[in-house]
Amino acid sequence: MLNLVLFGPPGAGKGTQSEKIIDKYNLVHLSTGDLLRSQIQAGTELGLKAKTLMDQGILVPDEVVIGMIDSKLSENRDAAGFIFDGFPRTVKQAEALDGLLASYNESITVMVALIVPDEELKKRLLHRGQTSGRPDDQDEQKIKTRIEEYNSKTAPVAEYYRQQNKYVSIEGVGEIEEIFGAICDAIEKEA
Ligand code: ADP
Repeated sequence: MLNLVLFGPPGAGKGTQSEKIIDKYNLVHLSTGDLLRSQIQAGTELGLKAKTLMDQGILVPDEVVIGMIDSKLSENRDAAGFIFDGFPRTVKQAEALDGLLASYNESITVMVALIVPDEELKKRLLHRGQTSGRPDDQDEQKIKTRIEEYNSKTAPVAEYYRQQNKYVSIEGVGEIEEIFGAICDAIEKEA
């Protein structure tokens, strides 16, 4: 199996690159942001609770996203592999993911981190906010909170994978195709 963690701050281009990676390697896409947004759409209790936090740019509790990933892994037993997008976002989530995969005798193949400067991120998110309809993309304070959450809680996850020799960083500014090429090279080197 090819199990890829696509890592990077909000606005780094994880969604765009995920689509291309899925097409090429036939992986199941697990985006916790998308999974949470579909819970909100469906009006579930989980969705209602998550919405308040997400609208502010604050991470939802670890248990919530770990539970969602757990059930998606068990629903997709025949998958050729997974791309984890927006997950794990805390060290606790990373540890839980290792545990879940181990129960299937699987593990993370590689973490690919997209590196983009904060100023560029803010610009991209505000731009996306004009069309995405996402409340967390439309307000500078919310964007700031998301980047702060990333720097304090999520950035340490890179170190977690670095210690496992699974961390690869890629420049996330430039042509989409060029960035995609660099990601493919990293995947093929590790797989
Ligand atoms: P982005 O990376 O562009 O901020 P996402 O769609 O990945 O967008 O996430 C949107 C929001 O959903 C986050 O700000 C957070 O509130 C919540 N969220 C998504 N994934 C997680 C996660 N793994 N852990 C905690 N909260 C999450």
